Amino acid sequence: MISILSKIRLKLSNLLEHSNQDSTRILITSTVFLCVLFMFHFDLLKRFEFVTYDYRVMLRGTRLADPKIVVIEISDDSIAKIGRWPWDRDWHATLVKILKELGAKKVVFDVIFSEKSDTAKDAVLAMSMKAAGNVYLAEIISDASIKKKAALLTSLPELTQAAAGSGHINLYPDEDGVMRRIPLLMDVRGRRIPQLSLAVALDEWGADINGIQETRGELQLLLKDKSKILIPVDQRHNFIINWLGRWKDTFRHYSYVDVVTAYAALKKGQVPLIGLADFKGKICYVGTTATGLFDIRPTSLEPSYPAVGVNLTVLNNLLERRFIREFNYFDNLAVLICLAFILFWMMKLKSYFKTAMLTISVLLVYVVLASLLFVFFSVWASIIYPLALVLATYFFVTLYNQLSVTIERAKLFKLATRDSLTGLFNIGHFKLLLKAELTTLAMRPNRNLSIVMSDVDFFKHTNDTYGHPMGDAVLREVASIIKNTCRALDVAARYGGEEFVLMLPGANDQEAFKVADKIRETIGRKIFFHEKGDFSKTISLGVTQLSPNEKSVEAALARADKALYEAKESGRNKVVIASNSPGANLCS
Ligand code: GH3
Ligand code: MG
Ligand code: MG
Repeated sequence: MISILSKIRLKLSNLLEHSNQDSTRILITSTVFLCVLFMFHFDLLKRFEFVTYDYRVMLRGTRLADPKIVVIEISDDSIAKIGRWPWDRDWHATLVKILKELGAKKVVFDVIFSEKSDTAKDAVLAMSMKAAGNVYLAEIISDASIKKKAALLTSLPELTQAAAGSGHINLYPDEDGVMRRIPLLMDVRGRRIPQLSLAVALDEWGADINGIQETRGELQLLLKDKSKILIPVDQRHNFIINWLGRWKDTFRHYSYVDVVTAYAALKKGQVPLIGLADFKGKICYVGTTATGLFDIRPTSLEPSYPAVGVNLTVLNNLLERRFIREFNYFDNLAVLICLAFILFWMMKLKSYFKTAMLTISVLLVYVVLASLLFVFFSVWASIIYPLALVLATYFFVTLYNQLSVTIERAKLFKLATRDSLTGLFNIGHFKLLLKAELTTLAMRPNRNLSIVMSDVDFFKHTNDTYGHPMGDAVLREVASIIKNTCRALDVAARYGGEEFVLMLPGANDQEAFKVADKIRETIGRKIFFHEKGDFSKTISLGVTQLSPNEKSVEAALARADKALYEAKESGRNKVVIASNSPGANLCS
């Protein structure tokens, strides 16, 4: 496992070391672009896009609804006064009658009267609906996703027949549970069912549902005066709800019970609590908003919004003809491609500061543009994918730049501190490390520190007999033996030529002697193979222990060198401890 990891690390650093930086940056930018494209194609960041969309909806502030539309709420106070829901249907018959008398243009029930109740009361409601001639009823399409199983759940047949129209009130929240879109047209076994508010709007326009043509991205409606209404829809033919604001701030609200009691007061000649003239010419939606009764739906603007409000908003959008147009797949793709080109150019810039500033600017400009486009033109351009593209490209290119710099530094450090033939430290760096150890030793006099100086015996002869390349091989092998014989905290360096030096922190001269002797023995046992005949080499070593009041690194090295000289003089293949070390005169 570790070896696989180190191989990968080696490959990666080789790649980073040898790659052309510009082409690598282009490669990174292209890879990030392809990854973002993949996520965009499968819409993997949909939920994040919704967050950016909701934030844009909030930026727009509140707009008052068309004054033609009012809502009569089956609210908490209505329930408190009239009784538990469902109410006897003669209440609704009364409301319909009142609204007819008050001159309401249309009465839209966001309620389904599907169960039989009191037959007589159902008949009263049917009669008042017929008499009013402007009452719309809601219906629900069950199993809409399975074409063959789709069925329509409507109010009782006598009520449906008495209605001026009907439409579905199916709601399909987005994946995060928030209502943002609604299907305006649905299909139930070949029959086109309009959304309740579309049914109302069609009658307002004097248009017929069969006059609607579904094209890619639009519903086209031809009016009698030959004018056209284009209603944008998303890729799945859903209408995007153009929220006006919070529920309480946008529509004219009346409580069901207030309308009925105000009317009764008027009839008794008293002053009604609410202005009943308000209902003249209005489209009145009747729906439940009482706690526990109403269908709560979170919207882009608030966490709980009654379902009747969704239908009201759709009607308001249709009547005002203020729609949200979502960028389609190709519009968003074009944005990503343009940004990718800008990024290709930006990532080639040599100045990291400039790149960072430009990245922030591109991001800001895009987010501001997309927000303005939505606030002023109601166009929903994707923000999350461009954001992901720019940020991910910047992140990975910066990471690459940082890695390159780090590797470059490591390379320079290696060049400055290592010997190229053996891979051991060079003497310059060794002296630095030894100096640092000496400082520690001065502060902690009880610690030991020793150095070992070594020189391969008769190395000139090796070169002369077997050639320089073989000499180099011997030096590499000697270096490797020295390195492998000592501990990880010991420091080995090539002093120059065929001379090596070793620092042993914590070791006194006796311990250093043992290490040196082990090196001597191991080298002596090693057989070098050559066509001119196999051979072995010996090495001589000098050891010295450093004292806490050591004058200089050089003085210590000179002492070790002197001991080495003594080893050479007394016959080579030996370890000698310097005479002023505690264990002097010990040799092998
Ligand atoms: P002694 O036992 O007294 O140390 O004898 P020696 O032959 O080892 O000592 P001398 O100083 O006479 O020779 C050292 C030789 O090492 C001379 C030089 O050509 C050779 N040498 C120095 N650096 C390198 C190197 O990097 N590679 C090779 N192949 N030979 C080197
Ligand atoms: Mg020498
Ligand atoms: Mg030598």
